[in-house]
Amino acid sequence: MLRLKGKVAVITGGAGGIGLATAKLFLQEGAKVVIVDIDREVLEKAILAIDHENLSICVADVSKAMDTEKFVETALEVHGKIDIFFANAGIEGTSKPISEYPDDIFDKVIGVNLKGVWLGCKHVIPKMQQGGSVIITSSVAGLKGFSGLGAYVASKHAVVGIMRVAAQENAKRKIRVNTIHPGPVNNNMMRRIEEDMSPSSPDQVMKGFEAAVPLGRYAESSEIAAMALFLASDESKYITGTTHVVDGGMLSS
Ligand code: NAD
Repeated sequence: MLRLKGKVAVITGGAGGIGLATAKLFLQEGAKVVIVDIDREVLEKAILAIDHENLSICVADVSKAMDTEKFVETALEVHGKIDIFFANAGIEGTSKPISEYPDDIFDKVIGVNLKGVWLGCKHVIPKMQQGGSVIITSSVAGLKGFSGLGAYVASKHAVVGIMRVAAQENAKRKIRVNTIHPGPVNNNMMRRIEEDMSPSSPDQVMKGFEAAVPLGRYAESSEIAAMALFLASDESKYITGTTHVVDGGMLSS
């Protein structure tokens, strides 16, 4: 049986590694999907590559209220309702100690990772169906500090707070709200982080991260998508207001 048959899902950061893997999985499971991303070119490539009648796209910047309202309207116009909201768009910023961290990059990271999730909860949840599911992509950096990643760590901790409040505020409508906390994932974001931390030897950075993961490797985007599917489906209908770690054991050590 298809686990998301008849459901409509909106996925932000939908042209990126985790977002696109999740869009594909949700489509396979019978959902209609709107992928939202700031990057028009990558979105257009995605729609051509996936070529599915139940997939649509919307170019929007999640850090802007007007753009958020635009993607809500698009989803409602195209599909008539929203059951699942995957607030997944995120950026990594740079790697520098707090004392040297550039203010403009801090503002950008907070704008996308924190305000983007806030605006999503503010504008999407009121338009969602009763019994819906909101899934927010945090990170292991939302549960633990990582030296040099102050803005990212701050933003990913903060969305746990939003998740806990939104879960309480929306429980009467049976809308569940949860966070996912991936460890390092084998996609473009980690490639950028490795380059930023050590332009001359990104491979060494990768080896260091892998050594910190008891299972000895990065996750694939599809392995994070599998958790999103569980949280989106009725299999998790008694789960709300909590954190879900997918990290190969990283936080256990
Ligand atoms: P990614 O860079 O492949 O995807 C992120 C997507 O978000 C991109 O397509 C990008 O264009 C989009 N985006 C960026 N700013 C946006 C904005 N203002 N509005 C709309 N879209 C925007 O990386 P990913 O790994 O797929 O990241 C997805 C989420 O997972 C992020 O929130 C990230 O912080 C989180 N995460 C990633 C990792 C990892 O190792 N890659 C680990 C833990 C958590």
